[in-house]
Amino acid sequence: MYTVAQLIGGVWGAGGEGGELVVHDPADGSPVTTVPVATADEVAKAVEAARGAAAEWAGTAPAERAAALHRAADAVEAAADELAQATTAEMGKPLDDARGGVAAGIGTLRQYAELGPMRGGRTLHGAPSALDFMAAEPRGVVAAITPWNDPVAVSCGLLGAALVTGNVVLYKPSERTPATGWLLARALDQALPAGVLSLLTGGAEVGAALAGQEVDVVAHVGSTATGRAIAAAGARTGAKVLLENGGSDPLVVDAGVDPIWAAEQAALGCFANAGQICVAVERIYVHRDVAEDFVDALVERAEALAVGPGRDRKTQLGPLVDRRHRDHVHGQVTAAVADGARVRTGGTLPDGPGAFYPATVVSDCRHEMALVREETFGPVAPVVVVDSFSEGLRCAADSPYGLAATVLTGSMSHAHRAWRELPVGTVKVNAVFGGAPGGAAQPRRGSGQGFGYGPELLDEFSTMKAVHIEAPGGGHW
Ligand code: NAD
Repeated sequence: MYTVAQLIGGVWGAGGEGGELVVHDPADGSPVTTVPVATADEVAKAVEAARGAAAEWAGTAPAERAAALHRAADAVEAAADELAQATTAEMGKPLDDARGGVAAGIGTLRQYAELGPMRGGRTLHGAPSALDFMAAEPRGVVAAITPWNDPVAVSCGLLGAALVTGNVVLYKPSERTPATGWLLARALDQALPAGVLSLLTGGAEVGAALAGQEVDVVAHVGSTATGRAIAAAGARTGAKVLLENGGSDPLVVDAGVDPIWAAEQAALGCFANAGQICVAVERIYVHRDVAEDFVDALVERAEALAVGPGRDRKTQLGPLVDRRHRDHVHGQVTAAVADGARVRTGGTLPDGPGAFYPATVVSDCRHEMALVREETFGPVAPVVVVDSFSEGLRCAADSPYGLAATVLTGSMSHAHRAWRELPVGTVKVNAVFGGAPGGAAQPRRGSGQGFGYGPELLDEFSTMKAVHIEAPGGGHW
């Protein structure tokens, strides 16, 4: 059982007068974590204390901040196993996946430690006697509010980029993975001056209290509804708001592709992490020519997955994060079936403990169904048959979200049409996941705003000052 403590003003164990939450293992319902809840007053005090530490950290040489981040990455590496275990216990993902998330987070911290001190602004010479330059400065106090689905990787991105650029950070991990957040904060804090990092814990109300404070940036990774509430708070306080939010990513399967390979890609995109990935495949538009073979192969893949608790090394499909979320997933499936869709495998609530949901393939879907248009965030593959690649692209583009999209095609011209025509942050051709390290995209519409990840995230956490210098009296230097 983990007992989480907050970190406020450099003091571990501070506050928590707002009560206590208990997190349950989604595999069997047993309690795994107790976590204190911050009061609004504690949140305000934490922001004030962080503000007090901001000037010194901003004034620390970039190379020194980078060295601290490398030491922080070492500390996270030393705690990697513990972090992966906590992730699996709190949100259920298979242990190997959790280890992958921790490794990705460490890699991101090191990338930012390398890139941070190398950044500079432009220099201009408007006249022989004048010099103009642009200097990057930290924004100041950053609130980082994160989700549960890949807690270490996502948090390391925001925290690494914000810290190395000289900001102090108030970190509010998800209430469903607070021990993971606490272990991460403990590791990072070892390498940082006291007060540079704070940890506030609790649920939505703590996030809302933090987003309502006079901070300089609120960076949120999570659902679209929360992102919109945070944007509204930012409009009131003047904080810059960075949002990496939900999606309903399409997969377009062209005529002429191998249906077995396409089904493998679809299964990976729909069922990895039980579909709880922001860029999971959430809807499939398959060309009529390959549809039947594709669906048959997808059903086969779905039924072959090893289901079990994440801590079992054989598990490929762990539980969903909790039963409330399972009800949401199942509700979308049953509504689609009531509207004429056909469950080809899965689609039933299993008996027994935990929040398990089977890998589910639903055929005969229509583009208008909520299962297709909304974010499901579960191991469900809704299939819509289309008569042309153009129709598939049109449906893929028609969405309230704009996170990412994949097309599977052997046609170079279709691949080029896809990246030009799809209004999303990331387009993938012939692979549902992947991408070079350091890649960054800007989500669109309901999926958020601002760069998430990559060197561009360093710019998001910095502000540029233009400086113009002339010799006195209009003369020369
Ligand atoms: P969530 O938005 O409910 O919670 C995320 C964080 O926001 C938590 O710490 C929560 O306590 C906090 N929060 C909740 N309500 C708040 C409010 N009103 N004001 C301030 N903070 C508040 O999201 P979740 O359920 O934890 O995560 C799943 C969602 O995250 C999915 O929609 C998924 O697509 C998205 N996600 C997006 C990305 C991306 O990069 N685009 C990555 C991972 C997850």
